[in-house]
Amino acid sequence: MRKFKTESKKLLDLMINSIYTNREIFLRELISNASDAEDKLYFKSLTDKSVKLKKDDLVIHVAFDEDARTVTVSDSGIGMTNEELEKNLGVIAHSDSLEFKQAQEAAAQEAGDAEGKGKKKPAASSVDIIGQFGVGFYSAFMVASKVRVVTKAFGSDQAWAWESDGVEGYTITEAEKEGHGTDVILTIKENEGDENYDTYLTEYGLKELIRRYSNYVRYPVQMECMHQRKIEPEEGAEGADENADPQWETYFETETINSMVPIWKRRKQDVKDEEYNEFYKSQFHDFADPIRTITVHAEGALSYDVLMFVPSRAPFDLYSKDYKKGLELYSSNVLIMDKCEELLPDHYNFMRGVVDSQDLTLNISRETLQHNSQLRAIAKKVESKITSELTKMRDGDREAYEQFFENFGNGLKFGIYTSYGARAAELAPLLLFYSAKQEKMVTLDEYLEAAAEGQDAIYYAAGEEVERLSKMPMVTSVTGRGYDVLLCTQDVDEFCFQTMMQYAEKQLLNVAGGDLGLETEADKEAAEAATEANADLFAAMAEALGDKVVKVAVSTRLTDAPAALTAQGPVSLEMEKIMSQMPDAQAQAIKSERVLELNAGHPIFEVLKQAQEGGDADKVSRYTNLLYNQALLVEGLPVDDPVAFSQAICELMK
Ligand code: ADP
Repeated sequence: MRKFKTESKKLLDLMINSIYTNREIFLRELISNASDAEDKLYFKSLTDKSVKLKKDDLVIHVAFDEDARTVTVSDSGIGMTNEELEKNLGVIAHSDSLEFKQAQEAAAQEAGDAEGKGKKKPAASSVDIIGQFGVGFYSAFMVASKVRVVTKAFGSDQAWAWESDGVEGYTITEAEKEGHGTDVILTIKENEGDENYDTYLTEYGLKELIRRYSNYVRYPVQMECMHQRKIEPEEGAEGADENADPQWETYFETETINSMVPIWKRRKQDVKDEEYNEFYKSQFHDFADPIRTITVHAEGALSYDVLMFVPSRAPFDLYSKDYKKGLELYSSNVLIMDKCEELLPDHYNFMRGVVDSQDLTLNISRETLQHNSQLRAIAKKVESKITSELTKMRDGDREAYEQFFENFGNGLKFGIYTSYGARAAELAPLLLFYSAKQEKMVTLDEYLEAAAEGQDAIYYAAGEEVERLSKMPMVTSVTGRGYDVLLCTQDVDEFCFQTMMQYAEKQLLNVAGGDLGLETEADKEAAEAATEANADLFAAMAEALGDKVVKVAVSTRLTDAPAALTAQGPVSLEMEKIMSQMPDAQAQAIKSERVLELNAGHPIFEVLKQAQEGGDADKVSRYTNLLYNQALLVEGLPVDDPVAFSQAICELMK
């Protein structure tokens, strides 16, 4: 017996024990896998002459045996070798990425919580976790006490059987199987309390599930269905009585249960939302409904149908290097490519969907794709359609849009950043940021609409959390003047704003940056006067700080805080923080030009002045460092020498 990996086992337990609301999707998952396996063989046949497929070769078969309590899903697809069985079914999540670990911890915790309260019902997020890792196959254990997979890889002579009761581990042994493909045999659980599993052992129950969840699977999903017919009494047979009850006999006939009519060819008004949702979940292996369904039907010189979905949450690997964007590409209902990258711009990489055009040639290959003008025309339409649908969602269903933005908003910002602002006209209106004044997410247009009279710029601050940012002296100094500030908490925000530079002809200004142009003439004069009058003090302070800052100056904007750190030049403190965490040494070396700004109206400034006038150079130096370190803390930056800082404070308290 081979053991499941620990993390797999935890997830498996969680799934088997806590998610029972939607057990019936197991069949959809198995049929999707079967369909994928047939796709793989079909693809192979396009390039590999040794694969000879006949028209009816690729079918999916569902069967049940009431007495043995089994349901079998069979495909004639690509099958799996011994190694593939081990790799694909031996672990649940093939990725040991950070996301996986985090999600798994959360799942474990949730499972623990649920246990504690004696509850069985899962929180929505545990469903999310399971869906996120494509544990499709394992959903079989929600209804089965044992799962046996008999498979033979295409081109191999040896079949293998994988078997597991879903508890500790699994076995893999040699097996017999005629053709290539896979049979998944579930031994259905016994009924338990009000859990009725018997419906999966009926023709009616299985047909229902196939129609509901797998109607649009490309391959015929077939079952041997029971029929009855009247037995006609033989003519003139002895004892034939015209008035006797008719006799019936039972016979079986192979039926195709799913409609297979491509859903994308149907008009949107004729398709129920539910049908779209089921298609999405079955086709794209998601457990959650999409947040938006988008269709395009184009006719004319270039005819095509597009059916796209905005997922309701990001797949776990969206931001990983391995993530592949793309839409499925069909030519007259025949799949040509399962992820056609050319159909989606990077910033819409999260979209899932299908493009079908009879006008595309079947033998379109990766190499010729980029030069295919028809494909480019479709891609252009796809992009503009996504943009317009997102715009509609932004204006018509804000709640859904905010959820969308939480998941995929960073991608839009990256789109602006990586295009050096070229995409800003299209994407910037879709962005949302947290408004300090309105205390909610707003678009840049909404920010400007609510802007104070005469406000000439868009102000923003970047940091880790809204809560903390809203209290930063540089933020309050701007909000204190009645101006709103966008509180940006994503690493990409500032980079995005810097490439945009402006929006609707208003400059985007970081409140912690240099000159905001907000101070009055009187402020400026006062600051200049204070600078001149205290030239000695500033010189002493600058010396005390050495190369930690480029300048110590009187602030024209601080109101309550005694001092604050700002940065002059293009690199802000927040950007420096982000760069310092990048793996790239060059990025790490990028430093901001720090300025220690002092509030000349603050009592602490008086203290410093007196120390300077009294010739107490040591005190000036100590206090300057205290102020500097304090300002670092407010900025969320690490203090250079925490021990020295703490000692200096104790010294003061003595
Ligand atoms: P997913 O389908 O999301 O990748 P699953 O847990 O459902 O996740 O399946 C894991 C892997 O096992 C699949 O990616 C596929 O490689 C393999 N697999 C599952 N079912 C079949 C099948 N019927 N035929 C061939 N391979 C299969």
